[in-house]
Amino acid sequence: MPDVVSLIHVKRDDSRPLTEAEIGWLFAAYASGEVADEQMAALLMAIYFNGLDGAELRAWTGEMIASGERLHLTGADVGSGSGSGSGSGSGWRSRPSVDKHSTGGVGDKVSLVLAPLVASCGAVVPMLSGRGLGHTGGTLDKLESIPGWRATLGNDELTAALADVGAVIAAAGDGLAPADRRLYALRDVTGTVESIPLIASSIMSKKIAEGTGALVLDVKTGSGAFMQERERALDLARTMVALGEEHGVRTRALVTRMDTPLGFAVGNALEVAEAIEALRGEGPEDLMEVTFALAAQMLELAGLEADPRQAIASGRALETFRKMIKAQGGDPDAPLPRALHQRAALPAATDGWVTRLDARAVGVAAWRLGAGRARKEDSVSHTAGVRCLAKPGDHVAAGQPVLELHADDPGRFAAALEAVEGAVTIGSEPPARAALIVDQVGV
Ligand code: URA
Repeated sequence: MPDVVSLIHVKRDDSRPLTEAEIGWLFAAYASGEVADEQMAALLMAIYFNGLDGAELRAWTGEMIASGERLHLTGADVGSGSGSGSGSGSGWRSRPSVDKHSTGGVGDKVSLVLAPLVASCGAVVPMLSGRGLGHTGGTLDKLESIPGWRATLGNDELTAALADVGAVIAAAGDGLAPADRRLYALRDVTGTVESIPLIASSIMSKKIAEGTGALVLDVKTGSGAFMQERERALDLARTMVALGEEHGVRTRALVTRMDTPLGFAVGNALEVAEAIEALRGEGPEDLMEVTFALAAQMLELAGLEADPRQAIASGRALETFRKMIKAQGGDPDAPLPRALHQRAALPAATDGWVTRLDARAVGVAAWRLGAGRARKEDSVSHTAGVRCLAKPGDHVAAGQPVLELHADDPGRFAAALEAVEGAVTIGSEPPARAALIVDQVGV
């Protein structure tokens, strides 16, 4: 019979890997209260320093999945572990399911475009998401700026939306990998978030439990990303792809650059507006490059040959987006809310080309304006955010503002201005255009 202090010693001293039985015991004892939060926190710190090997990570992730229900939103096996999903319509269950997850970036509204786009090409996209924390925004927070739109759906509503529309973006219910919720809260307050095995198991347990057949991961690297260095992003990508495959989900990852915001809009309603422009075929080049690269991977994994560019050009993707919003109570024709105050910011020091616009600084500014939350229970402003008036590669004249800040509370401008001090570099030559997709993992 293991005891938790011995397991902490084993991991602290890195004397041997934990066994599958020990990890199973640990999760059961944590769920029953026999293992206390402070003991789990000590173990998490030992894992932060000494990692988990492949077998430990597989067992750890398996326990996180088994702590809750495993949904079967798609495929022949109808319903969930703890309830049933009836859904309307029928043939959709034989369509391939595929989801996308991003590790989070600034201005990353790709999910809003990608879910309806890939669904309009014939796949079923069950995208269960979380909320934003810190300087990166959350997909649900963005969609909630659409009047009437609801993030929370029951299992029956989820299956009905998948049947009717083919895509759903909704809040992951409390029953999905509940052990992750407890562990993430502990990691958040004990300095143990930035551990590759802990991040990989946290993300993948929720995605595997959601029941998608295939998954494409967008692992961001650069100043605005969790994993700033490319090697660590690649390591995280490989770890997550291996976990997905081991648990029966066909998984691939793209490592994509996040040094500067994606598109021009950062902040909830601002990003929804830009996503709708993208679905109309008027999206910014960088946003479309990442969106089409991810769409190609998703369609390939789903075994579909459709052309995503055509799905946008024909209006099919936009139509699917409108249906997806309506299925969750939203009004796709209602005007999006707009901030009461706008302020031009970051004037260019000289004439020249923007060579750098720092993603993290812009993300922090948007957060300070009210677009993001510091703690899970905080609410967010739908209207706050930043519009980039120029991006790397654009020419500006001396004094021309590079950013426009949006807020309902003008008292927030000072802290946002402080965040973006030094965030832009102007050069005398246009910068070389760097590819946004820097690595691919998975076959
Ligand atoms: N997102 C998650 O869901 N979990 C992590 O650990 C980090 C990012």
